[in-house]
Amino acid sequence: MIELTENKFRVRFAPSPTGPFHIGGARSALFNWLLARRYGGQLILRIEDTDLERSSRESEENIKAALRWLGIEWDEGIDIGGDHGPYRQTERLPIYAEYTQRLLAEGKAYRCYCTDEELEAERQELLAKGETPRYLGKCRNLSADEEQKLIDAGRKPTIRFRVPENQNITFHDAVRGTVSFDSNGIGDFVIVKSDGLPVYNYAVVLDDALMEITHVIRAEEHLSNTPRQILVYQALGLPLPTFGHISLILGKDRSKMSKRHGATSVDQYKALGYLPAAVVNFLALLGWAPPGEQEIFSSAELIELFSLDHVAKNPAVFDIDKLNWINSQYLKKLSEEELTEMALPHLKAAGLIGEELPPERLDWLQQVVGAVREYISFVAQVPEHAAVFFNDDIIMENEETAAILRDPDVARVMDEFLARLAQLDAITGEQVNATLKTIGKELKLGGKKVFMPVRVALTGKMHGPDLVSLIPLLGVERTMSRIRHSMALVK
Ligand code: GLU
Repeated sequence: MIELTENKFRVRFAPSPTGPFHIGGARSALFNWLLARRYGGQLILRIEDTDLERSSRESEENIKAALRWLGIEWDEGIDIGGDHGPYRQTERLPIYAEYTQRLLAEGKAYRCYCTDEELEAERQELLAKGETPRYLGKCRNLSADEEQKLIDAGRKPTIRFRVPENQNITFHDAVRGTVSFDSNGIGDFVIVKSDGLPVYNYAVVLDDALMEITHVIRAEEHLSNTPRQILVYQALGLPLPTFGHISLILGKDRSKMSKRHGATSVDQYKALGYLPAAVVNFLALLGWAPPGEQEIFSSAELIELFSLDHVAKNPAVFDIDKLNWINSQYLKKLSEEELTEMALPHLKAAGLIGEELPPERLDWLQQVVGAVREYISFVAQVPEHAAVFFNDDIIMENEETAAILRDPDVARVMDEFLARLAQLDAITGEQVNATLKTIGKELKLGGKKVFMPVRVALTGKMHGPDLVSLIPLLGVERTMSRIRHSMALVK
């Protein structure tokens, strides 16, 4: 249950702009957005860019564009401002410095002069003893003299948080229930690096507290960071938010979702022609299971229904078949014009149409796209299904298709069909159906000897768009020439 503090509900999404925007990040953003909308609160977008080497403005732009594409609008934060800015961590360094001074002055943090080599040696030693690697506190109680010597030797200190001993850190997680950690397993951790930049576990606390975040809803991978963060809150006397850690996303083979499982970034799905509403629908169901059987939800419905109560503790499995099914449901709702608009770049990339589409071709193209709609899960699949409408150089897909046309009965069907087509200028879907049925009756042949052979003659394949839409769109002339071509091919 979400409990509102003084009726205030402020959540945030705080991505690190370090690469392609992963669908896991999009899901965290979505959950926060849904909660903010549901409880009439605010969603804050903060950029956590203190890892200078890995962060880039390009990635930040990409994240913002992807959020906007998904329809996840934030109320405060980067780009739009608010009362708690700046919203980019690298622009908040003086704020962190002020709190660091306080922690140092109160003895709750101290300077550590250990070199990387010394720390690594300590780590190896602990590992060899089968213990959890942690800082054992070599610089915890340096005298002023000892410290001066290290400074004189040119050592640049980091700042470490003094973790209290023998403390049980227990909190209520809105997804996982009661969670406890023992402070003795933590070790004094670095809060400010030797270059003066704060680390995530420290900056995140000051930002969440100063931005008055009431609920920190984020990925499970941060669960183990939470005790460190709670210690910082406590040391500074800052009020704790409610934490909620949403489960990992696994691939279908139950290993952590990675590139191996297919597309992992929002951009890739956008490029493949998934619809944002479908992606949102799918992401909402990644870990959240509303009561009932319904699977298609509009954003408005999600906002009304979404709650952490039905967010599962166990990992969510990324099922691409489910995403494809959901997307195909949304594609069905598009008009032929809209679907064609989305398909144009894919058809161009596949070389099926040129850069400029002659206006008189548009109507035909829209009908082609409409005819393949039921076979596709995402728009990038349009060209592979639409290709049969473009390319008249039919080749037989395999020996089986060639054999179908070699049947002497089939030759009679084709002759009869050609003769009838020759009488026409154009043909409708109903005429196709009626003509082929009549031919079957007259030649005393079942549908199997009529419809399938005609399909094979026109496409070289046994599967594809319905003849009722294919033939009218090819037109009489191209239908006839394809039949002649294919029959000659198998002679
Ligand atoms: N910058 C962190 C990340 O992208 C955010 C973690 C948090 O939400 O506290 O994983």
